[in-house]
Amino acid sequence: MFRHQLCLASLIAFATGSITVTHISARESQPASSSIQQEVRSYLRNLGISTDRANALPIYCTAKHCTTTGNGIWINERQLATHPPCLRSFYLAHEAAHYALGHYRSITTIGQEQEADIAAARMFCRYGQRAVVEEYANYLQYTVIPQEGSKGRVDKMHPTFSDELRYLQRILAE
Ligand SMILES: [Zn+2]
Repeated sequence: MFRHQLCLASLIAFATGSITVTHISARESQPASSSIQQEVRSYLRNLGISTDRANALPIYCTAKHCTTTGNGIWINERQLATHPPCLRSFYLAHEAAHYALGHYRSITTIGQEQEADIAAARMFCRYGQRAVVEEYANYLQYTVIPQEGSKGRVDKMHPTFSDELRYLQRILAE
C-alpha cells in the first residue's frame, strides 16, 4: 500500500518538479544512527550471524514500516522513538530475527512474524535480557491490548496482540 503511495508521490513530484526520485531514494538509503546500528548488529550476532556478516549488513533509516530484506534492514527511528524502550529493543531484535531466519527470501506471513517474535524473545532470555521480554509482554497486556481490543493487530500480516502476548508468556514460563 505504502509503496504505491510513494510511487504516486514521486509521480506528482515529477509533474510539479518539487522533488526528484533520487531525493526519495537517497533518503531511504541513509544509514540509521550509530546506536541503532550497534544494537541491531549485536542482536544479529546473538542470533547466530557471524560478526563479519553482521557488520557488513547495511542498516538504513526509513519513514515507512521497519523492513528486512537480503540487502539490509530498514528502521523507522522516528516511529520507534515514540515507544517505550522495551518495545523499541524488541522491534529491533524482531527485524534482526527476520534476517537471521532468512525470511527475506519469501513473502512474509503471520507464521514468520510469530517465528521472528519467538526467536527475538528466546535470544533476549538467553543473553540475560529477559526483562525486555517481560516489560514488552506487560506493555502488550496492560497498555496495547486494553487500547486496541483483543483482536487488535499491526495489520493483517501480523498475529493479534493477544496471540503475541500468549506465546511470549509461554516463553517466559519456560
Ligand atoms: Zn516482522
